[in-house]
Amino acid sequence: MRRISVFGATGSVGQSALDLVRRDAGAYDVVALTGGRNVRQLADDAWALKADIAVTCYPECHDDLKALLDGSGVDVAAGTEALSEAATRPVDWALSAIVGAAGLMPGLTALEHGTTLALANKESLVTAGPLLLGKAKAHGATVLPVDSEHSAVFQALVGEDMAAVERVIITASGGAFRDWPVEKLATATLEQASSHPNWDMGQRITIDSASMFNKAMELIETKEFFGVSPAMIEVLVHRESLVHALVGFNDGALMAHVGPPDMRHAIGYALHWPERKELPVDRLDLAAVGSLTFESPDDARYPALRLARRVMEESGLSGAAFNAAKERALDGFIAGEIGFLDMCRVVTAVLDKMSSSDGLQNVEISLDNVLDTDRLARIRAGEAISQLG
Ligand code: NDP
Repeated sequence: MRRISVFGATGSVGQSALDLVRRDAGAYDVVALTGGRNVRQLADDAWALKADIAVTCYPECHDDLKALLDGSGVDVAAGTEALSEAATRPVDWALSAIVGAAGLMPGLTALEHGTTLALANKESLVTAGPLLLGKAKAHGATVLPVDSEHSAVFQALVGEDMAAVERVIITASGGAFRDWPVEKLATATLEQASSHPNWDMGQRITIDSASMFNKAMELIETKEFFGVSPAMIEVLVHRESLVHALVGFNDGALMAHVGPPDMRHAIGYALHWPERKELPVDRLDLAAVGSLTFESPDDARYPALRLARRVMEESGLSGAAFNAAKERALDGFIAGEIGFLDMCRVVTAVLDKMSSSDGLQNVEISLDNVLDTDRLARIRAGEAISQLG
């Protein structure tokens, strides 16, 4: 039996992963499941999958979780330290599917214990890519991509020599507002931004898809994970969300990964890696699909992509500042403090301010520096939000 843990088990990615686990429950020994406020889901899954421990990141949710798991034999814990403690438990495979920078610590801890880490939490790579991958190398641990585009690139690279790679192309659906007149974007509401044309995902990543902050994060993720230069990475708008990424080689060949928009594919690939096993995802009927379309992204519609290029060039702690400012701006949009287009203004203001005064470049990417930068960027983003409001 393979011992596994799922961090962020109650979320969209976590639930897709547990769907795969449940279908073959006898093959897995579930060690830790973690969540946040959705303690009922966490308790149901921990009970059904006979997890060793269930952890909520919120101390105030501890008693509810404890009551729900009374008599189950599942240990219960709460708080961020408990999350990291759960990551020290020996497993063969762990999924990092917490949303936001909060996913960094459990991921780092799991890697310190040599765990194979399937990484959906893109914020870890954006904020602290060199730290995370350095930790994996130092402890002989493997990091597997779960973001669908990066899983696609990873799969296209099997058996290939990185020296032969000329470019990496990741695709974007274009999000909820791909057909809106650019002038109308300033009026976009939370409800409108929270619906995705192709993918069924958590609310935060769905809004990030509408603003293209999600793709901006993925550009940075691509640079960090595959070690390619920013100039080699391209984005194409691909409305059908069937081609997830393409890798271009020095003989002119393009290897494309094509599959249905179902996260269980990328999660399942990481779960079974290095083998490829049958997965319960739809099989594509390309004749029925008929045609696939590709467009260059419009810079005026998606200014977040320009910001990602800036972050990749500036490097250092820019990613940590970018991610924290983006998370705070997104909180502000969700809370109705700022408008849709203000999110990009806030992140730009934070990067401008911190690049000039707080020294983001040529600084060691240590955990302390990343956490300090994250804290400061959230404060600066709050200031920028107040100035807009
Ligand atoms: P969701 O919002 O659906 O789920 C997030 C999970 O993290 C939940 O289990 C939530 O608990 C938990 N959580 C929330 N806040 C905290 C915190 N502060 N500390 C610890 N746990 C917390 O997110 P998604 O599943 O959509 O995304 C998860 C990650 O995967 C993100 O980094 C996202 O960018 C990435 N990703 C997602 C994809 C998707 O299809 N959804 C595709 C590719 C990548 P609870 O809900 O109980 O409060």
